[in-house]
Amino acid sequence: MAMTMVEKILAKASGKSTVTPGENIWIDVDVLMTHDVCGPGTIGIFKKEFGENAKVWDREKIVLIPDHYIFTADKRANRNVDILRDFAQEQNIKYFYDIIDRSNFKANPDYKGVCHVALAQEGHTRPGEVLFGTDSHTCNAGAFGQFATGIGNTDAAFILGTGKLLVKVPATMRFVLNGEMPDYLLAKDLILQIIGDISVSGATYRTMEFAGETVEQMTMEERMTLCNMVIEAGGKNGVIAADETTFKYLQGRTDKTFESFHTDENVAFYSDRSYDVTKLEPVVAKPHSPDNRELARNCRDVKIDRVYIGSCTGGKISDFLHAAKLMKGHQVKVPTYLVPATQKVYEDLFSLKHDGKTLSEIFLDAGCIEPAAPSCAACLGGPKDTFGRLNEPEICVSTTNRNFPGRMGNKQAQVYLASPYTAAASALTGYVTDPREFM
Ligand code: SF4
Repeated sequence: MAMTMVEKILAKASGKSTVTPGENIWIDVDVLMTHDVCGPGTIGIFKKEFGENAKVWDREKIVLIPDHYIFTADKRANRNVDILRDFAQEQNIKYFYDIIDRSNFKANPDYKGVCHVALAQEGHTRPGEVLFGTDSHTCNAGAFGQFATGIGNTDAAFILGTGKLLVKVPATMRFVLNGEMPDYLLAKDLILQIIGDISVSGATYRTMEFAGETVEQMTMEERMTLCNMVIEAGGKNGVIAADETTFKYLQGRTDKTFESFHTDENVAFYSDRSYDVTKLEPVVAKPHSPDNRELARNCRDVKIDRVYIGSCTGGKISDFLHAAKLMKGHQVKVPTYLVPATQKVYEDLFSLKHDGKTLSEIFLDAGCIEPAAPSCAACLGGPKDTFGRLNEPEICVSTTNRNFPGRMGNKQAQVYLASPYTAAASALTGYVTDPREFM
């Protein structure tokens, strides 16, 4: 029977030869990730249901990452990280990426960073496997040909105790992206285009599979940007077939063997859409919804108060490289906040060069605020002392993934989601700006 890539992954994880969309199956979990916001709740349910002295199902398949509210004086937020640390010690969890020293709002050298990017950098995102995380953007890892999706604390607690979960097999919507990517577009434009087309509920409980020559030519980081935001269309998960680019990225990051799956040619998709990317233009998602799409050039009269470049969606090193290319030799007109997703990205900002200057030099020369230590920072608002948080009803162009009211802090603030190019161009003019003005 013809199957999609995700159906094949789920069939393997359930020990079946075939599965069909809508079928409920028990699957074995390869990796469970939780962080400081949902970890304490998950641990509490695990202890209540499995017993105070219960042991997790596999100490090597759990990844604990404090990343959301880590550089704050907020006592409750700090306590959440302490609970993760205590649990990691009690259970001898192999992968606990501790922040340890938050007294000076800097990460220790061993810290990793925002969970979704850290998972990839540390080799936990392997083709053909099943990854669950207590975070909706766990779908990011679909870029590696993995079945990866967000779950709630109760499901996560059940996995902690058993290593299994009951799932309904999602139907697959395929998105074929063809054509050579214009140099003014980034993956963020493509996913905002798609979400604008199908709406924030257009892929509810379905797999969004991305294929086509444009995707095949993308770097892993750009593929991650596509998959990261499928949840903004309601998608259960996003997925891209693993290829040489994937294998190269994983080299040296994992020594585990994995199996990559491909969608059969004669499979029946729930829907099948094609895009010619050469015909697309830079877009933004206007307040207050990721599907409120508009061409960036049509928003040129929107005066902005700040720009934010960061998060698991837009805080990878390639995102900063794109922003730096545009900013080099220019001056920003509004406060511009830079939050690297991981410690590795932070370090790369000070070593990776473009045109003879490090990215951090380019940003500081352009008048940006000095890069912060890696964390989710203002992507999710957070406590009042969070770096970059919108504490006033300001207008912000952001490379993050959500612009619901209050998402980045103040409920009256307005967030325009954009690519790193568009964010950089907007920083240079103080208005929402199509990056082609600087190319
Ligand atoms: S960076 Fe933002 S979207 Fe990503 S995990 Fe953190 S809060 Fe969530």
